[in-house]
Amino acid sequence: MNIVLLGAPGSGKGTQASMISERYGLVHISTGDIFRENIKNGTEIGLLAKSYIDAGKLVPDEVTCEIVRQRLAKDDCKKGYLLDGFPRNTYQADQLDGFSKVDLCININIDHALLMNRLCGRRVCRDCGESYHVDTLNGATTCKKCGGELYQRRDDNPETVASRLAVYNEQTAPLIDYYTKKGVIFHCTGTEAPASVLFATVAAELDKYLK
Ligand code: ADP
Ligand code: ZN
Repeated sequence: MNIVLLGAPGSGKGTQASMISERYGLVHISTGDIFRENIKNGTEIGLLAKSYIDAGKLVPDEVTCEIVRQRLAKDDCKKGYLLDGFPRNTYQADQLDGFSKVDLCININIDHALLMNRLCGRRVCRDCGESYHVDTLNGATTCKKCGGELYQRRDDNPETVASRLAVYNEQTAPLIDYYTKKGVIFHCTGTEAPASVLFATVAAELDKYLK
């Protein structure tokens, strides 16, 4: 089964994606993670992506679509994949339709008033990618799951977050309509409750198709 996860930055997409991929054995593909990996390794793609990510803008479509097309062509995607952060506009969604078939779009609704604080207070584990919020860390600087060092993403600052949210509203939110028209959308709501609460709703839906 091929799944697309939709939701604003800070809606908890990445966390749900990890939980889904673990439970159902789907490959988790995060375009944001791919870009960050490329930046870390100093590749040409990383060099190009960095200025866009730091500004909270989308990396150009041609580059992003080609990365995803190549990734989905790999063998491990044959059993199904979970796209987290792609597509982010209707052009990318049309391109995706050209090289693959989306079976389900999970849309995470969330009160946007929560997002600025969530993102600016977020700390991420360098080793396993788990995310935390400073308000619940009590000063801890390492990951509870694996002991890795926690860091703050460069784009989790007020200015860049404002731009990411504007880009989401203008370019990504229309995809809710896009996948509704295709008849493949499932809506759920992100909350301040632990991620396992939302995951229970998502899993109840996925159990209808998978397992
Ligand atoms: P978030 O959803 O929290 O903003 P991501 O890790 O998904 O975080 O994305 C971080 C940044 O990577 C985005 O702000 C954007 O610059 C770039 N990016 C990720 N996915 C895409 C995409 N599909 N198209 C263009 N740029 C992307
Ligand atoms: Zn960790």
